[in-house]
Order: sequence, then C-alpha cells, then structure tokens
Amino acid sequence: MVSPSPICPKCAYDQSGQIATWKTKCPTQGTCPECGYTLSWPDIIDPSRIQLPWFVEHAKSKRQLLTRTLPTLWILLFPNRYWKRVTMETPRSIKRYLLWLTLLILILHILTTATLIAVNYGFTHQNNARTNQLISQLTPEQQKQYAFRLTDLTSIDYWRPTIGEAFLLPLVHRSNFEEGVAQGMAMFATLCLGISIIWFLLFCTFQTTRNRSKLRMIHVLRATVVAGFLPFLSIELGRFLDAAYLLSTYWNPISRLSILLYSVVFVCILWMVIWQQWFWIAATRIGWQVKAKWWELILVTTASFLGIPIAVLIMIAFKPIRIAIDHFAVWIGI
Ligand SMILES: [Zn+2]
Repeated sequence: MVSPSPICPKCAYDQSGQIATWKTKCPTQGTCPECGYTLSWPDIIDPSRIQLPWFVEHAKSKRQLLTRTLPTLWILLFPNRYWKRVTMETPRSIKRYLLWLTLLILILHILTTATLIAVNYGFTHQNNARTNQLISQLTPEQQKQYAFRLTDLTSIDYWRPTIGEAFLLPLVHRSNFEEGVAQGMAMFATLCLGISIIWFLLFCTFQTTRNRSKLRMIHVLRATVVAGFLPFLSIELGRFLDAAYLLSTYWNPISRLSILLYSVVFVCILWMVIWQQWFWIAATRIGWQVKAKWWELILVTTASFLGIPIAVLIMIAFKPIRIAIDHFAVWIGI
C-alpha cells in the first residue's frame, strides 16, 4: 500500500516537499531534513513492501503466529539482532504482538498444567506405595489407624484440588509445589515491566533528549509493550521448573540434577534483567539511532532500577485480585 503522504518514520516529518523536488530521477536513499535519519525511499513510499518472514507481527494467520514463534523468540533473545531487523520503517502491529503473546502463554499454560498434574500424580502414587509398604508390617488395627495417610487417586477429592492448583499456580499456592519458582519468576517479570516503565518515563521526561533525537513517542511506547510483557513468558518456565523440582524429590535420576535446576533458575533471572536493559540500549542506539553518549546510557540504565518500587506498586495493586482468586479457589474446593 502506498502511503498517501510519506513521512519520516523516526520524527514523522512530511517528506512530500522532498519528493516534489525529484524532477528527472527517483533516488533510493535520502536524509530526513528534520532529524537526519537515513531514509530508504522505496520503504517510506510503500512500507507494506517490508515483510519479515520470521516476524509474528507480520503474520497473516493464527497458524503463522504459531509457526513464527520460535524464529521471533530466537531473534528477540539478542536485542541487537532484533533492532537491526525491525527498523523504524517496518510496519508494526502491537495488537498482533499482544495476541501472539497471549496465545503463546495460553498454550504453554495448558502444557505446564498437564506436566504439573502428571508429576503430582507420580509423587502421590509413590507416596502411597511407600506408606503401603510401611503399614503392611503393622497389625490390622494399626493399619486402619494409618489408612488416612493414603491418598485415594480415583477420588474427586484428589483430582479437584490437584487440577485446580496446577492450573492456578502461582496465583494459588498450596502445599504441593513448594519451591515457588513460578512465583519468583512472576516477581522478576514484574520487575522487568517496572524497568521498562521507567525507561519509558525517562524518555517522556527528558524533553532535551527527545528534541535532540526527534524521536516519535509511538516507537518508545511499542518498545515498552514488547520489552515489558515478554518476560511474563518466564512464569510458564517457572511452572515447568516447579514440576521438575517436585519430580526431583522422588525420581532418582533427576534428584541428582537439582543443582542444575537451581542454576537454570539463577541464569534465567539474571538474563531477564540483563536482557531488559540490553533491549532498551539496543533500541536507543541501533533501532532509533539516537546519538546518546555512553555515560548517558549508563545513567539511564542505573536510574531504570527505580523500576523496583514501580514493580512493588504493581504487585500491591494486584494483591486484591490474587486474594479474590484464592477465595474463589477455596470456594470451589481447591
Ligand atoms: Zn525525520
């Protein structure tokens, strides 16, 4: 689709004046007279010609959203690569991004729920076997006394809370999954959102930086959405690790690997926080070509840790919802 009035993707300056000066030939490259951004004329005149085959925001169907999931995550994993490919000319659809993220979390949630249920079943089954072995040596009278320690794996009283907790973890946290990795991941994902909000606010506040770079706020807002919400995927990883921990408590080959499981958690959390900062620095320098000095970037990166109180505020605001869900869970017998 040819854009009706071609504008600079960085500062939105109307380029019709420039184009009107073309008399004999059409150049392929130019410079925005307002912000100095290097323009690729064919992309400015017709942005729809940029179609990234791996990018979920360019997916034409739900099927493509799914098939492009791994390539998009792979490119997002290293922010430099992402910002080199997703330039300011690239057409964006934050609506499609959020749809993709929601669908992905939903699918992963169903998978992790099934994993948590399976692992819990195995754990309870083995507990039963152990208890049976112990009480088989007791008198029939004592056996009756200790029978309450056995869980009836066919009863609704076992399945309802197990399925319920597996589905609602970490919003509802009961006895079975005590490691709380999902809960920890949720906390750090919120911290990452807080960091992104601070980056956004700093871009809004520092008029001088914005005037110097002439950057449209829509770019900053999109980056906030992409970087702020992506870490919430880690909650699903946390749920999976919670299942792995429970498995390690009763399955020997895994129990020896529990240190590895802790290392995975540590690396993930560290990567999330580093990634968050790297994403913003890469956005500023590569994506938006803002000529920020290194000390300025270090200053903003340090200041972005003010995201910690923001994250605490988000968690406090979310607490009543969590309590309401917990009450509801108790009410339906979870
Ligand atoms: Zn411009």
